[in-house]
Amino acid sequence: MSSINNVAVIGAGQMGGGIAQIAAVAGFTVTVCDSMPDALARCKDGHGKRLARDIEKGKIRKADADAALGRLTYSSDIAAVKNADIVIEAVVEDAGVKKGMFSTVAPMVGPNCILATNTSSISITEIASVTGAAADRVIGMHFFYPVPVMKLVEVINGLQTRPDVTKAVIALAEKMGKTAIPANDRAGFVSNRVLMPMINEAFYAWMEGVAEPKHLDDIMKLGCNFPMGPLQLADLIGLDTCAHIMEVLADGLNSDRYRPCPLLKQLVTAGRLGQKSGRGVYDYPPAGK
Ligand code: NAD
Repeated sequence: MSSINNVAVIGAGQMGGGIAQIAAVAGFTVTVCDSMPDALARCKDGHGKRLARDIEKGKIRKADADAALGRLTYSSDIAAVKNADIVIEAVVEDAGVKKGMFSTVAPMVGPNCILATNTSSISITEIASVTGAAADRVIGMHFFYPVPVMKLVEVINGLQTRPDVTKAVIALAEKMGKTAIPANDRAGFVSNRVLMPMINEAFYAWMEGVAEPKHLDDIMKLGCNFPMGPLQLADLIGLDTCAHIMEVLADGLNSDRYRPCPLLKQLVTAGRLGQKSGRGVYDYPPAGK
C-alpha cells in the first residue's frame, strides 16, 4: 500500500466537514466534495470559524491553522476525487445512495486508492459489492461527532478487505490523532448496535408519557452519569440519521424490535432533524433570537 498524502472526503455535512478539518490539520492535502454547493460553502465557513476558535483557545498556532486551511479545496464535481490516495465517504446514511456513490467513484480513482466509508451502520461488504475488483480496498472508517473532539475511529473490515488496507487506515486514524478500534461487519457494528436502541427506547418512553424530554434526559444524566441525555444526543446526531440507523439494524439483524419509534419517524417527516435543522426534540434558535 503506497503512502497516503491526498485525502478526498465526499459529503460536506456534519461528519465530512469534521473529517476534512482534522485531516488538513494533520498535514494531508484534502479535497471536499458535495453535490450541494450550499453545503460546501457552509463547510468552508465552518472550517474557518472552528479553526479561528481553536487559535483563540490556544489549541493551534495561527500559522498552522492557516496552513491547514490552505490544504483544503472544495468541489461540487465528484471527479475532483480522482487523485486521492484515500476517499472517505460521508454522505447520507442510505445504502442506495452510498452504493451509487461507490460504484461511481471506484472506476475514477487509482488502483491503490482506499475507499473508506463513514457509515454508522450499513454493511461494508454490501457497499463493497458494487465496486468490482476494488472490493478488497473498501473499509469502514467510522468517526464520531463532533469529529475534532471525539477520540474513536471504529475500523470495520468487509469480507474482502485486504490486511494492508486495514493497517494503512489504522495508521491514518492515528496520524489524525484518533484511537482506532476494530469491530466486525454486523449491522451497527459495536457503537450503534448498543447506542441506537437506547436512543430509540428514549423516544418510546417520551411517546408513552413516561417523562417529558428534559426530565428523561436529566434522569439519564444524573442517574447513569451520561454526559448528555439520549434525546439531546439524538438531536446532536440528527434524527434522520438515528431513524436510518434503526432501519438498518432492523433489516440487518432481521428483527422488528429495532424499527424506529413512530414518534422519531414523525419528527423526521416534519423536518425536525435536530440541531442541524434548528429543531428536533428541542429548539435551537439562531444566535441572537
Ligand atoms: P449530513 O446530512 O450532515 O451530511 C450529508 C452530506 O452529504 C450533505 O452535505 C449532502 O449534501 C451530501 N450528499 C448527499 N448525497 C450526496 C451525493 N450523492 N453526492 C455528494 N454529496 C451528497 O449527514 P452527517 O451527519 O454528516 O452523516 C454523514 C454520514 O456519517 C452518514 O453515513 C452517517 O450515518 C455517518 N455518521 C454520522 C454521525 C453523526 O453523529 N451525525 C456519526 C458517525 C457517522
